[in-house]
Amino acid sequence: MDFELNEEQQMVARMVRDYVTKEVAPTIKEWDRKQEMDPQVLPRMAELGILGVSLPVRYGGQGMDYMSLGLVCEELEAGDTSLRVVISVHMGLCCYAILQWGSEEQKLKYLPPLAMGEKIGGYCLTEPDAGSDPAALVSTARRDGDDYIINGEKMWISLATKADYMIWIARTDPEAKKRSGGMSAFILETDSPGVTSGDIHGKLGVRAGSTGWVNCQDVRVPAANLLGEEGEGFKIAMSCLDNGRYTVAAGATGLIRASLEASVRYAKERHTFGVPIAHHQLIQQKLAWMARDYEAARLLYLKAGWRKNQGLRNTRETGLAKWYATDASFKAASEAVQVHGGYGFSDEYEVERFLRNARGAVIYEGSSEIQQILQAGYALGYREDRPLRKELPPYDPDEWTREE
Ligand SMILES: Cc1cc2nc3c(=O)[nH]c(=O)nc-3n(C[C@H](O)[C@H](O)[C@H](O)COP(=O)(O)OP(=O)(O)OC[C@H]3O[C@@H](n4cnc5c(N)ncnc54)[C@H](O)[C@@H]3O)c2cc1C
Repeated sequence: MDFELNEEQQMVARMVRDYVTKEVAPTIKEWDRKQEMDPQVLPRMAELGILGVSLPVRYGGQGMDYMSLGLVCEELEAGDTSLRVVISVHMGLCCYAILQWGSEEQKLKYLPPLAMGEKIGGYCLTEPDAGSDPAALVSTARRDGDDYIINGEKMWISLATKADYMIWIARTDPEAKKRSGGMSAFILETDSPGVTSGDIHGKLGVRAGSTGWVNCQDVRVPAANLLGEEGEGFKIAMSCLDNGRYTVAAGATGLIRASLEASVRYAKERHTFGVPIAHHQLIQQKLAWMARDYEAARLLYLKAGWRKNQGLRNTRETGLAKWYATDASFKAASEAVQVHGGYGFSDEYEVERFLRNARGAVIYEGSSEIQQILQAGYALGYREDRPLRKELPPYDPDEWTREE
């Protein structure tokens, strides 16, 4: 078993860490307070190649592997969760949906502008009354000649007001017998007439990011934008989560690391009872738990990334990594606030932002309750992963770096 990261993987992680340290850290508090996304974030991430990092070169990407994507997410979220969320929805949920399920025409049309950051991707599954139970969704897509007509509302959508292309899951056969049947996936261009969106304000965390709603009223989408086959929407939506959850797991791992680093710094500076608080065993215990959780979370996501590289199904491993890392990051951030005492309770220090940001990931992309249900299902033998009609392509360095 080889635990070494290769030169390329180390290089991309260093590059993103450098970007975060120099360009994100100095101003993130300000954007978080304003509850707005820094307008420089998307163009700068595009310029650095981050928005296409782990996509084949012939589709405009940087040709790096899936483990590199995880490392990028770890570094981004060590800066701020809002940056990692961009990658989760743009790459994990949108680009990979097209890479896995798209026709060659769809890949050639949509992936290069996304990979180069000229366009931004999003993912619309959740509705006002359908989150953990997406089979309850009610938005519809009705065939009309060469088009589908989409109607419905999506809620809690990351980059709702920023994305140019959205993967939209709708019901195409309202009569389907199976609850999860009769759904289809579409590539929606958000400048189509009838699409409206807005941001949600007053969020607990990810305040420097965009989260909102998207509405479709009689929106015409060409039949050529059907992703996969009619009726495959639920499977596509779930397969997307294998990739989105991977990025969430890796990002949450970065948040554990950031909580640990901030706590170590503060514990050495702050004195009580005549010694640095780092000398108190109860403080050391918190640091030890964070160190343990960081290593375990990192191993879990890298294992999932390695399986993606090999083209091996990773629904179980990715879910486990996501559940573990998000629970652990919330705990780490909470303990980091505790280490900082009263000062941790204000935004003078970054740990209160870590705590607020960590909360959402325990809910989105499958809450920790849903992850437990899935893991119990595997353990009991009630659940198994059957092959999909189209799998996420494995990482093949020659194939991914060839120009044509
Ligand atoms: C910041 C943020 C960004 C998001 N971005 C996106 C996005 O880009 N695209 C998108 O499609 N969605 C997005 N979501 C939506 C997110 O995926 C849903 O909020 C999540 O799936 C939970 O759904 P819900 O909010 O409807 O909660 P509900 O499904 O109503 O669940 C409420 C509670 O009940 C629990 N619960 C539900 N069913 C069970 C059960 N069977 N057993 C035990 N407990 C259960 C849940 O775990 C939860 O604690 C985002 C959400 C947030 C907060």
